[in-house]
Amino acid sequence: MITEVNPFPALQPLLELLHRRVKAGATADEFNLIMRAIELINERRPIFKDDEQYVYYIGADEPSRVPYRVTLNSCTCPRGNERICKHRLLVAALEGKTLNTEGFEYTRRKKVVKQEETLQLA
Ligand SMILES: [Zn+2]
Repeated sequence: MITEVNPFPALQPLLELLHRRVKAGATADEFNLIMRAIELINERRPIFKDDEQYVYYIGADEPSRVPYRVTLNSCTCPRGNERICKHRLLVAALEGKTLNTEGFEYTRRKKVVKQEETLQLA
């Protein structure tokens, strides 16, 4: 059965995590990750839970996309390949758990310099 989830119980634990990590000297990426999880709540992003499959569905960043399928360990969002993403952090908070965000950094794609630009510079 799929039911709608009230995200507000996750707000306080996420704010506490943010305060604790900032005090401990969080990196910019870690700060952004936690802030974005909090923004999901403030944006009132629709959240549903499928109890039978132990999976959450969180509205995507663009309304035209299908909702992201989120568990504690996986997420179908574009950042799903990262160690943690904002959706998994939110789901963990809803489940009364805390993921370890310490030292989190986003994987950054290397910028590919276009050949044309290189030629113009030469
Ligand atoms: Zn995600």
